[in-house]
Amino acid sequence: MRILTLLFTSAFMCWTGYSFGAGGVVTSPTGTAPDRYAYYPGTEELAKEEIRVIACGTGLPAARRSQAATCFLIETGNGDKFLFDIGTGSMANIAALMIPYQYLDKVFLSHLHTDHMGDILGLWAGGWTAGRPNALQVWGPSGQTPEMGTAYAMEHFLKFVNWDKVTREYKITPVPGQIETHEFDYKGVDQIVYQENGVTIRSYPAIHTGDGPVSYKLEYAGMSVLFSGDTVPNKWYVEHGKGVDLALHEAFQAPEQLVKFYNQPPQLAWRACCEFHTSPQSFGKIMSTIQPRHAVAFHFFNEEGTRYGIYEGIRETYDGPLSMAIDMMVWNITKDKITERMAVSVDEAWSVPGTALQPPPEKGRPNPSSEWIENGRWLDGFKAQDAMLDDYMKEYGLEKQDWRPAMYKELEK
Ligand SMILES: [Zn+2]
Ligand SMILES: [Zn+2]
Repeated sequence: MRILTLLFTSAFMCWTGYSFGAGGVVTSPTGTAPDRYAYYPGTEELAKEEIRVIACGTGLPAARRSQAATCFLIETGNGDKFLFDIGTGSMANIAALMIPYQYLDKVFLSHLHTDHMGDILGLWAGGWTAGRPNALQVWGPSGQTPEMGTAYAMEHFLKFVNWDKVTREYKITPVPGQIETHEFDYKGVDQIVYQENGVTIRSYPAIHTGDGPVSYKLEYAGMSVLFSGDTVPNKWYVEHGKGVDLALHEAFQAPEQLVKFYNQPPQLAWRACCEFHTSPQSFGKIMSTIQPRHAVAFHFFNEEGTRYGIYEGIRETYDGPLSMAIDMMVWNITKDKITERMAVSVDEAWSVPGTALQPPPEKGRPNPSSEWIENGRWLDGFKAQDAMLDDYMKEYGLEKQDWRPAMYKELEK
């Protein structure tokens, strides 16, 4: 059975133009392949009528080095970039794409589970220190009460990070430390929550552990990407998913996998899988009903021990084009074709400068450090760096901004 499945899988991979297919004929020993099997971030300009989707998190709430929690970056040919969820651990993958932070300022949250928003911490502070010039924009659903909505979550997120925010605001520009929240009604069906520059994003209610979660559809240049967030099979996704280009939908671990690998008791596992998430079989049924140009399953730990069981479950009910998502998988969508590749990225990624400059620090903010704490500075320790800093000051022409004399005078008192 396993051999048959593998044969079928390989045949299927060829049929869909799977990423491991040939890159064209190499015509000499020193020649290059005409096509790439891999996506090298920052090396390909998108065509005007093209969408690129990058999986920056495809896993579960329990951390795993090879798979962060849910996050998809969608880039459109007009130059816009949108993050759909930003689950725990996903910022390391986003950063590895080496995109200037000025372009990573729009986040759409499907719901407020931490495996879908945990790394907003990293984007908020990391982007602030690495060049984002403006406030972070966050879209997300309301809840049954104000305390269950996105606005409440973001307001209290800023309270949670208050020390971080106040101390950074004094030293560097305060503007990128702000969050502008756009909360919308979670009950809206096909509701436009964003429309600018040729991109429309709509929301749909999703059903998952409580009122509030939503799915999103992004439309650009006559193409569409539908992102489920977390949900059980629901009528809105099926109704509004018919014929979309790329359908991203969660497919949860099969219940016996949750028992075997995730330490869940059987009475919880079959509900986690199949009552508040979507099982592989249900995922397949959804896809064979809406018939997208390409389906993407995510929200499971994808490894030798699990992927065949999930794949076989999906194939019970769906035989169309399919990706079993892992982190850094990339899809390019045009009217003619959809390709799937893996991104090849560096582990030691620095932030890349963009064209925007951050506003300067704001004068007049109270110093969050007291005289008492500042007078604890050890002068000899500071003076040890003087020669190095003298050279630095000259190189950058900072003579008029030398902060040392005033500090040393205080410490020498
Ligand atoms: Zn969830
Ligand atoms: Zn989740």
